[in-house]
Amino acid sequence: MNEANMSMLKISGLKVAYGGIKAVKGIDLEVNKGELVTLIGANGAGKTTTLKAITGTLPACKVEGTISYQGQPLKGTHSFQIVEKKLAMVPEGRGVFTRMSIHENLLMGAYTRNDKAGIDADVEKWYSVFPRLKERSTSMAGTLSGGEQQMLAMARALMSHPELLLLDEPSMGLSPIMVEKIFEVIRNVSKEGITILLVEQNAKLALQAAHRGYVMDSGAITMTGDAAAMLNDPRVQAAYLGE
Ligand code: ATP
Repeated sequence: MNEANMSMLKISGLKVAYGGIKAVKGIDLEVNKGELVTLIGANGAGKTTTLKAITGTLPACKVEGTISYQGQPLKGTHSFQIVEKKLAMVPEGRGVFTRMSIHENLLMGAYTRNDKAGIDADVEKWYSVFPRLKERSTSMAGTLSGGEQQMLAMARALMSHPELLLLDEPSMGLSPIMVEKIFEVIRNVSKEGITILLVEQNAKLALQAAHRGYVMDSGAITMTGDAAAMLNDPRVQAAYLGE
């Protein structure tokens, strides 16, 4: 396997059960280095559970199967060690530090780095991508709108210089203009070479941005393939694109 299609993330036979609820029923999913892969599916399909299994943030529950990241098993890695492994997640509901300023949130994203000049340059970069964050840099993050918090959460995650970025429903609850902006940033980040696993309910936008896609339904992967081909697949169109 050459560098270009080296596996970044490989999930094999993942099963997760919350008590009697089988949320994930033995899935296989792979993301290669440099790819933007999307995992789409309806509410409750098991997408967030899959992301939490990767980051080690599941509540106490039964987990089977293997997850390897850059060729190393992730199982047993504590969530606080994830960032050191250059893996960042933007959770559903953003997860910004609401009682810290926008500026402090950005600096928190870089807590594993010690290149002050690089950190300052990155803060300025994100302020230029999201001017609204600059305007409000000293305000508490909790005072931002939902869309602005999404921007901050994304910028904070990218301040850690991740090699793999996990995004959980970045478009949720945002206005169409904000959704457009967030997807523009996702596409640009992907072009910069950062590998992305994007969980989305907005299947159309996600498949338009992604290289490959997986459809999850009731805890199982029911379809996978090239994103462009999936966009044209009548089964995907009927079930997820409202066409
Ligand atoms: P959504 O888009 O609504 O977030 P999802 O595809 O991300 O959906 P999950 O959140 O992974 O789905 O949920 C999968 C199933 O597991 C659902 O039936 C959900 O109710 C259940 N579930 C999720 N978290 C828990 C929990 N902590 N305890 C019990 N059941 C849970």
